[in-house]
Amino acid sequence: MTLFHLLTEGSRALEQAGVPDAKQDAKQLLLAAFHLDIVHFLLSRMEELEENSRNEASIQLYRNMIERRKRRYPLQQILNRQEFMGLEFYVNSHVLIPRQDTETLVELVLEDTKALFGKEKKENSEKSLLDLCTGSGCIAISLARKGFFDRVTGTDISEEALKVARQNVENLLPGWTEDIDQGEGCMELFLGDLFEAVPRDGRRYDVIVSNPPYIPTKVIYTLEPEVRDHEPALALDGEEDGLAYYRRIAASAKEYLKPGGVVYLEIGCDQGEAVRNILQAEGGKEIRIYQDLPGKDRVVKACFS
Ligand code: GLN
Repeated sequence: MTLFHLLTEGSRALEQAGVPDAKQDAKQLLLAAFHLDIVHFLLSRMEELEENSRNEASIQLYRNMIERRKRRYPLQQILNRQEFMGLEFYVNSHVLIPRQDTETLVELVLEDTKALFGKEKKENSEKSLLDLCTGSGCIAISLARKGFFDRVTGTDISEEALKVARQNVENLLPGWTEDIDQGEGCMELFLGDLFEAVPRDGRRYDVIVSNPPYIPTKVIYTLEPEVRDHEPALALDGEEDGLAYYRRIAASAKEYLKPGGVVYLEIGCDQGEAVRNILQAEGGKEIRIYQDLPGKDRVVKACFS
């Protein structure tokens, strides 16, 4: 038995099950099961594997992973990780897997806030960010790491999702605490339905971001099995027309923003005009729609005076 043999066995099994990128996925699972990097794999793939309990456990683990992937569990759920904005996030079945599309939103906020208050950091008033439907925390945490915020608040309706976000805060934001007067910054996570989760202490934010559920309920059944069967419906289902959360966020945004505050929302590629109208009806100004790397509408920004 060699690593090469195992790779071939796994690739074939995935190919036969109709899994896209079968070979790539099998390779990633093999590396994970044997705790190998690609260089060590390439050097040793033709060598006979020693018959010891460690290798046996790795083979067993690899075959279990292949079985799960055959049943179309997303690779990221099997590996319990996904990279986003150059950071490695822990993920499981309770959170939406961070998508590259969402980096468009993060990069836009970074660019805008750098121009707006990058230089003033620490000298002037506290800069704060609210991330609704935070899920794994990928938006909130990458903006806390790379952005110019002193206080970052994430909310989610799922306790299980918040556990994942907490884990990611622990892994990726050492030095950040829940106390605004201590540490490098203040990172808080609250359980609840959109703004209901935010403490009623009169606080207001400079920036509100969200990647809310936005898939129309009927469309969910047409998605890839990885998404449809294994990602949390709670994170995808935007109700009948997919716009339910935009209406609710737009209706309350002003109440939670400082004067001149800005909202950034991730959208489905055909929702730009609808979300623009929703934000406009609630007093949003200077509304702009931004495209992701493949050129599809992906983010709507609105300012509130
Ligand atoms: N972009 C995700 C998808 O297409 C959906 C994310 C969401 O509903 N917020 O699967």
